[in-house]
Amino acid sequence: MNVMDIFKTMEYGLAPEAATPAFEWIKERQPFGLFINNQWVKPASGQYLDSINPSTGKPLAQIAAANSADVDIAVASARTAFESWGQTPGHVRARYLYAIARHIQKHSRLLSVLESLDNGKSIRETRDLDIPLVARHFYYHAGWAQLMASELPGYEPVGVVGQIIPWNFPLLMMAWKIAPALAMGNTVILKPARYTSLTALKFAEIVQEVGLPAGVVNILTGEASQVGEALVRHSGVNKIAFTGSTDVGSSIRRATAGSGKKLSLELGGKSPFIVFDDADLDSVVEGVVDAIWFNQGQVCCAGSRLLVQEDIAGRLINKLRARMEKLRIGDPLDKAVDMGAIVSPGQLQEIQRLVSQGVEEGAEIWQPSWACPTEGYFFPPTLFTNVSPATTIAQVEIFGPVLVSMTFRTPAEAVALANNTRYGLAASVWSENINLALDVAPKLKAGTVWINCTNMFDASSGFGGYRESGFGREGGKEGLYEYVRPAWEKAVSTSPAPSSSSNGSSPSADGHANATQFNATDTTSDDIIDSSNGFTPTLPAIDRTPKMFIKGKQVRPDSGYSQDVYDPQHRVIGQVGEGNRKDIRNAVEAAHAASGWAASTTHNRVQILYYMAENLAVREEEFARRIVQQTGRSFVDAANEVQTTISRLFSYAAWADKYEGVVHRPPLRGVVLAMHEPIGVIGMACPDEYPLLGFISLVAPAIAMGNTVVVIPSQQSPLSATDCYQVFETSDLPAGVVNIVTGQRDTLSEVLADHDDVDAMWYFGSADGSKRVELASAGNMKRTWVSYGHPRNWLDSVQGEGEEFLRESTQVKNIWVPYGE
Ligand code: NAD
Ligand code: MN
Repeated sequence: MNVMDIFKTMEYGLAPEAATPAFEWIKERQPFGLFINNQWVKPASGQYLDSINPSTGKPLAQIAAANSADVDIAVASARTAFESWGQTPGHVRARYLYAIARHIQKHSRLLSVLESLDNGKSIRETRDLDIPLVARHFYYHAGWAQLMASELPGYEPVGVVGQIIPWNFPLLMMAWKIAPALAMGNTVILKPARYTSLTALKFAEIVQEVGLPAGVVNILTGEASQVGEALVRHSGVNKIAFTGSTDVGSSIRRATAGSGKKLSLELGGKSPFIVFDDADLDSVVEGVVDAIWFNQGQVCCAGSRLLVQEDIAGRLINKLRARMEKLRIGDPLDKAVDMGAIVSPGQLQEIQRLVSQGVEEGAEIWQPSWACPTEGYFFPPTLFTNVSPATTIAQVEIFGPVLVSMTFRTPAEAVALANNTRYGLAASVWSENINLALDVAPKLKAGTVWINCTNMFDASSGFGGYRESGFGREGGKEGLYEYVRPAWEKAVSTSPAPSSSSNGSSPSADGHANATQFNATDTTSDDIIDSSNGFTPTLPAIDRTPKMFIKGKQVRPDSGYSQDVYDPQHRVIGQVGEGNRKDIRNAVEAAHAASGWAASTTHNRVQILYYMAENLAVREEEFARRIVQQTGRSFVDAANEVQTTISRLFSYAAWADKYEGVVHRPPLRGVVLAMHEPIGVIGMACPDEYPLLGFISLVAPAIAMGNTVVVIPSQQSPLSATDCYQVFETSDLPAGVVNIVTGQRDTLSEVLADHDDVDAMWYFGSADGSKRVELASAGNMKRTWVSYGHPRNWLDSVQGEGEEFLRESTQVKNIWVPYGE
């Protein structure tokens, strides 16, 4: 073929990247050991596994198969390292992270080639996207290490972190995990995915090169059932950070329930790619290529559901097919290849299975006319049209190069279709009308929304899911909180946990460690009833037996049963309804129906919260007496609780229009709007101590941020919460924003935690109740916030209010808005 021929056909020539240095690197080192305490060690099992090159199906390297004995050693080394690393000044940690970033850049080509060989993804992507982003994450987090002391005062590292990652972006996922963990002073044990361990092992060499203290980073390769599960269960591990499938994520949620391990989960997705009829269709076509054929579609946030406005669907589909015909698939090391290989034969079979199912379900399949290479695991770009929204291929994550398309007529229909999924990881919106795009973005249930772009990532902008896509964010300042905890927690977590009070009659075993001058533990039964305040404790309150409060109305319990409320002398002072499953269902329904609260202006919420404070203040004495009656504390002490409650309402009135998002400037022309969005419906179980303050301390931040709530008041002393009905009613709080169900706190909490339409569950009670809540939450992967039976000083402004509560009340949505013509 001469130049003239090439000019005529415009055929691509081969442009292979040399793999020799990578093969030599492997040859010199294999079989690879485990990386523990900065040493290469043989696995306890003495066994090794093959890592395969998916584009040939041939073995590439032998990696060690770790087991629980190796996990024990690695955890011990990480624990020892944490003693000093956790105390190392931020500036020193910043220097190490900076050095890692530099070394990644120095070894960038070897890393890119290794990644491509081991995973099957194209060299273009590893070289131009994965590896530069890896370096960027270390640079960015070097900055947070430097700033931790000034920007996160009052926080400390969590400790030893077990990190488990998938195979689709091996080195990038590793960077997303290791960089923030180290920046915040934690030590880690990383488990790469079974198919793709090589770049993590090259990273281990970088750890040695930069002289990171031994034991700060440990890397254990091997099988999930050996390494992953042992890490998850290990009592020496303080946190698990997991990225992978929703099924495994939910099994990890159950395995860690009640253990007190912090947990972040980045799970699957079925992200919508929404195209309005005024979109620039040529850009849309390139966008779709990046959305679903990038990394062979093995991307958690892949735009796998194409939603097109009906009038342009035909045109767009034709353009897409023409573009698909031109995509090039083949040797991942060929620089002119668009798509590489699928990671494993198993993954390939799973894609084939789902595609056949799509055909059986009646969808119309289209694939390019060309054939895939026969050696290795390849699957062609695939487009389904005529897909109905309820079918398997429209609902299940395929994790391959398969796009399903559906049509819509109106923006409202687009939003409904987009949100018709159990996931909520990402979404992409295409329209030349910025008003429309920015109107749609907040309505999408997704952690990231890309406007006229897709699959954009940056360390400054947090990434993570809503709903069954998991919880927690990686990147951004918000991502740091996954690797720290409030410093005061350590003090209380070593004090005895209060006993479970599920019988509803025992006086509060209040175990506050940090007693303040106002602490209720200071009050003993000697000064229970201060007769000088004129209160007669024997007067029964039966004339005011409160009902439940659902949808702004007082309703009788479905069970028809009531339970007695006692004072500390075990005298009956009233009765409350005994709520059951049905009451919880009604309350959740009411809370959903009140979702308009999220769209109310923050100024509106500010006014209502002040109004609540004002109306509570008018009845200060009555509320104080109610506290005395229920708890036997002194009047002065009770009055102080009421006043603190009023101050707390003021705090959240103040925060309601101030806890705002930020605007990021990632390296692109444009901005990312990081918005604080309410979580939705939050279920909450109140602490027994401080019947009024505990209740308002939970309800106020949640509603200030636009959530609606279903609250189970203190089981022992529920009357302060039920007395608040009148305060709510007189403060213009819309019906359904706060719903109250009284009864058996732990039983009702479990029902709430298990409920599919509850988006988060807070629980402040016993250790056992906390565990039950975390277990039940695995059903829809809702966020939980539980006390593990540890006390919290609700009177204290650090423990009882502030940013921690606001963070638990919100999730960050990152909206990418590129600009320029
Ligand atoms: P996977 O859940 O099977 O495995 C992920 C990791 O967990 C692997 O390292 C695996 O060895 C380990 N593992 C498996 N079972 C385990 C167990 N019981 N205990 C402990 N560890 C265990 O997922 P995968 O097939 O490797 O990756 C594909 C999935 O990951 C997709 O569902 C995708 O959406 C998701 N993913 C999500 C993100 C995100 O950021 N949200 C990013 C990439 C991939
Ligand atoms: Mn491999």
